[in-house]
Amino acid sequence: MSASYPITEHTYDAVVVGAGGSGLRATMGLAEQGLRTACITKVFPTRSHTVAAQGGIAASLGNMPGGDKWEWHMFDTVKGSDWLGDQDAIEYMVKQAPEAVYELEHYGVPFSRTEEGKIYQRAFGGMTTDFGEGPAAQRTCAASDRTGHAMLHAMYQQSLKYDSDFFIEYFAIDLIMENGECRGVIAMNMEDGSIHAFRSHATVLATGGYGRSYFSATSAHTCTGDGGGMAMRAGIALQDLEFVQFHPTGIYGAGVLITEGARGEGGILRNSEGERFMERYAPSAKDLASRDVVSRSMSNEIREGRGVGTDGDHIFLHLDHLDPAILADRLPGISESAKIFAGVDVTKEPIPVIPTVHYNMGGIPTNYHGEVINPTSDNPDNTVNGLFAVGEAACVSVHGANRLGSNSLIDLVVFGRAVGLRVPELVKAGTSHKALPKGYEDMALGRLDAARYADGAISTADLRLEMQRTMQTNCAVFRTEEVLSEGVKKIDETAAKIGDVKTSDRSLVWNSDLIETLELQNLMGQAVMTMHSAANRKESRGAHMHEDYPDRDDKEWMKHTVSWFDGKDVKLGYRPVHEYTLTEEIEYIKPKARVY
Ligand SMILES: Cc1cc2nc3c(=O)[nH]c(=O)nc-3n(C[C@H](O)[C@H](O)[C@H](O)COP(=O)(O)OP(=O)(O)OC[C@H]3O[C@@H](n4cnc5c(N)ncnc54)[C@H](O)[C@@H]3O)c2cc1C
Repeated sequence: MSASYPITEHTYDAVVVGAGGSGLRATMGLAEQGLRTACITKVFPTRSHTVAAQGGIAASLGNMPGGDKWEWHMFDTVKGSDWLGDQDAIEYMVKQAPEAVYELEHYGVPFSRTEEGKIYQRAFGGMTTDFGEGPAAQRTCAASDRTGHAMLHAMYQQSLKYDSDFFIEYFAIDLIMENGECRGVIAMNMEDGSIHAFRSHATVLATGGYGRSYFSATSAHTCTGDGGGMAMRAGIALQDLEFVQFHPTGIYGAGVLITEGARGEGGILRNSEGERFMERYAPSAKDLASRDVVSRSMSNEIREGRGVGTDGDHIFLHLDHLDPAILADRLPGISESAKIFAGVDVTKEPIPVIPTVHYNMGGIPTNYHGEVINPTSDNPDNTVNGLFAVGEAACVSVHGANRLGSNSLIDLVVFGRAVGLRVPELVKAGTSHKALPKGYEDMALGRLDAARYADGAISTADLRLEMQRTMQTNCAVFRTEEVLSEGVKKIDETAAKIGDVKTSDRSLVWNSDLIETLELQNLMGQAVMTMHSAANRKESRGAHMHEDYPDRDDKEWMKHTVSWFDGKDVKLGYRPVHEYTLTEEIEYIKPKARVY
């Protein structure tokens, strides 16, 4: 090592890494249970990506005409997941959902209201009534088109009420592991470069997704999958990474999201012939078919020469037929985004849109208590002591092969809360800590030091771009044997260059060059595993549409992919889908062919 790094030690019952919706909910819950809790976050809590969520949060409150039931929400979520979701976890989530939303209401989230003053709910893709037999369900609770913003602010304020310590603008580098158990985490204070070891009986990864491994993504630049990277280096499997959700409506060129709520309020997609083409692909759900279906249909229109624009490479989203008063009331944020990022007045012109990476269904496998799973040959549900994961970083798996819109925000609060309930069952407040193992800091500090003094041939930014372009070209909406095997070769070559990176800033004070290099290592590992997992899955399911294997193959492939990466080689394995429910109240929902 070129430099020495003094370490400040902290001792907690529980440490949460991440202060987005899931991390804040977990922090609150743990502190509420009397555990000494720290929350470490690389950005100020209210700047976490959750702040950007627009459309809303799903719960079967039944406030709108047509009513609702959790059983219908469960059916839709299982179907949306293309039967890859674990039904015990899905049952847990949809049953808890209404209570979780009322809890948010009581925390102060300013939900939009119906005439009678109830929480307003809008329609979202894939959400139906009567087990898919009835019309679209209005299930998505919304605070205008700024739901995530409202949630995050309310939860941050609430969490300050409890006695938890926030370490803000601290970057978590690696987990402290001993004999397969997690003992805490090592982080750097980005302001002064000081190193901190957090000892903890329960470490919760709530670090969000890794959307930034792709070139065009709706997620923030901070969504670099750091939790997945830390788990990967600790020898823990990641699950179902091949399932990457493309949102149908990213603003062309900018990637900025136009919420599905825009179609929920009556927005329509049209091709260059002015045709509402979704009527052809999904005669019943039309523009509100689930995201994978709409994204593929759009890509197909573009590929068959019916895209709009000079290069025919995008699609128009029309809101100009809607009442301007409704647009101003329910979709003010996206009206503004369309103006800023596409120069469009939504009351008069269509918005140019294109499918854009939006969500990672895969992540760190957990059970419905949020306990991390690292499968072994004799136990597919083997848990890792001391380690938990929630939110987009985790794979519970409630979203399976495809997440329904508004099901992520509910996942954050339900499972954030679940961790707060589970940890106190395992850890007594104030339990003393064993001494840390010798050399516990070696991996984290070795990586930090190597990145700080890296003097190779390729800049971090150039290597990141190479990775992002490969993922965008070879692991996108349409996948074939040829495209994917070329992708595996290309991404392996790109990943091999990570040792040849060059950083130019050697200081430790606000060194973004250094932080981005550490983030790139996290992104790269997950990019490699995503590509290998995609090339391996010889079927089409949810977001993974393989043109050479266009059908879902339940006999061979109704199983989770798990992958391990040691920096050189990817090892793939499988875990069975939980083909059972949590209680006897509801029967296992058997796989059916998909009809749109
Ligand atoms: C534009 C957009 C709109 C969306 N709209 C909706 C919607 O309407 N409804 C819906 O259900 N879902 C929506 N989603 C999805 C949903 O918002 C996200 O999946 C969810 O907010 C992720 O929350 P999270 O708690 O997992 O992580 P995030 O909110 O991404 O937060 C991650 C946290 O981890 C911290 N962190 C990360 N790495 C480190 C590190 N190394 N060290 C320290 N801290 C770290 C960050 O500081 C941050 O606090 C949307 C997503 C996007 C991108």
